[in-house]
Amino acid sequence: MYLYNSATHRKDLFTAHTPGRVEMYTCGPTVYHFAHIGNLRSYIMEDALEKYLRYEGFEVNRVMNITDVGHLSSDADTGEDKMLMGARREHKTVMEIAQFYTGAFFDDCRKLNIRTPDTVQPATGLIPEFIEMVQGLLDKGYAYIAGGNVYFDTSRLQRYHVFFDHDEEDLQVGVREGVEEDLSKRNKNDFVLWFTRSKFEDQALKWDSPWGVGYPGWHIECSAISLKYNGEYLDLHCGGIDNAFPHHTNEIAQSESYLGHPWCPWWFHVHHLNTGDGKMSKSKGEFLTVSLLEQRGYDPLAYRFFCLQSHYRKALVFTWENLDNAQGAYRKLIARVAALRPGDGPVDEAAVAAQREKFKGAVGNDLNTSLGITAVYDALKLAVNDATKLAVLDDFDRVLSLDLTKKAAAKRAEDAKAIAATDASGFTVTGEGDPEIDALVRARAEAKKAGNFAEADRIRDELRKNGVELTDVPGGVIWKRV
Ligand code: AMP
Ligand code: ZN
Repeated sequence: MYLYNSATHRKDLFTAHTPGRVEMYTCGPTVYHFAHIGNLRSYIMEDALEKYLRYEGFEVNRVMNITDVGHLSSDADTGEDKMLMGARREHKTVMEIAQFYTGAFFDDCRKLNIRTPDTVQPATGLIPEFIEMVQGLLDKGYAYIAGGNVYFDTSRLQRYHVFFDHDEEDLQVGVREGVEEDLSKRNKNDFVLWFTRSKFEDQALKWDSPWGVGYPGWHIECSAISLKYNGEYLDLHCGGIDNAFPHHTNEIAQSESYLGHPWCPWWFHVHHLNTGDGKMSKSKGEFLTVSLLEQRGYDPLAYRFFCLQSHYRKALVFTWENLDNAQGAYRKLIARVAALRPGDGPVDEAAVAAQREKFKGAVGNDLNTSLGITAVYDALKLAVNDATKLAVLDDFDRVLSLDLTKKAAAKRAEDAKAIAATDASGFTVTGEGDPEIDALVRARAEAKKAGNFAEADRIRDELRKNGVELTDVPGGVIWKRV
């Protein structure tokens, strides 16, 4: 595929160090709170990228960390540990917070059809490896001890790699949220590899180390976790655009200094989901979650559809109206797929193969998922039988993961249950043919006709309590169990 690389600022043909096998690393969530739908935009697009690489025939080894220690409230190593903030907020231990929100994160991922990476590693589970890497950096002269902490010395680098294509605003993150300046640093960009108790006395999680009891910096965890599970040569590193600096820049500094050779050539950064009033942020208090979308009656996959309609390298604005439009389009699409008749003839394999090439041409151009969705609509208009169209959609859904044919099958089954019964007056009740419910629906219609609206509402409420929703349509009522 052709992929934009934020390290080179160019779109190039993607290749892997070991031909055919991609070592892929993703920065995982900081589990001090629920993931917001902005975080999940990044994970949806990274999931589409992984699945597209598999679709093209690559084998992919995908690794992700869980940040359960070391991420301070400012990305620039100042402030308080985010996990500690979560524990204090909820009067729980840091480990309870980590476990709960890690579970919540994967629940959200499941609802959004995001595949779980091949390896998921909580940072607290790999402390000896972090210590080994920090020691290696000290031994090679890339780190120093000051004020009780171990720092990476950026002045030792020939080039402190900075990704130039992120917004000024993202670069300012540390400055905006930043608190005090760390006077132990020799150079402005130096960063902490290991904190000792001399700072943040109340840190709940601490480990013994050659430099005193303490805990790792945020950046070292990703370098060490990737080294352990991806090996010395990483092909593709992913994250949200705010991770480009300082997090990814510092990962490169550590990994290349430790390894003594270039580390990861490809960098994939997803731009932000913003609300009308700016960047979405967990620390701002109220934020949008998958559960909130569900409470408001949205299908999480409608949110995935919404994300796939836009390119990952453009900021995306979230409004309820935009989500309504996406959900409407998604439902209509499912209805169109449901109208196809499975097994109406043999699958035209040549047509499926031709569509696959078209899909690759679209999505394989810098993960253009929006054109991938256009390809779905185009497939519905093909001059082939329905079985072939369904086979094409199943094929595309290996990447899009919108459950197109699965939801369509469920809709067909639901629709098949609907039985329409028309009485002498021409009033039609459509439902599952349950005589008791049909009778109540008719009684409500009679009450309405007689102007007894209180009784009509009482019947509707009674049915609702029993999980039956009514929809008034011209000439009758459709009822459904919800
Ligand atoms: P965190 O849990 O804060 O470590 O973030 C998890 C992932 O979400 C990281 O890859 C971030 O870069 C990404 N991210 C944070 N905010 C947003 C946003 N508003 N839109 C898209 N991705 C985001
Ligand atoms: Zn990371």
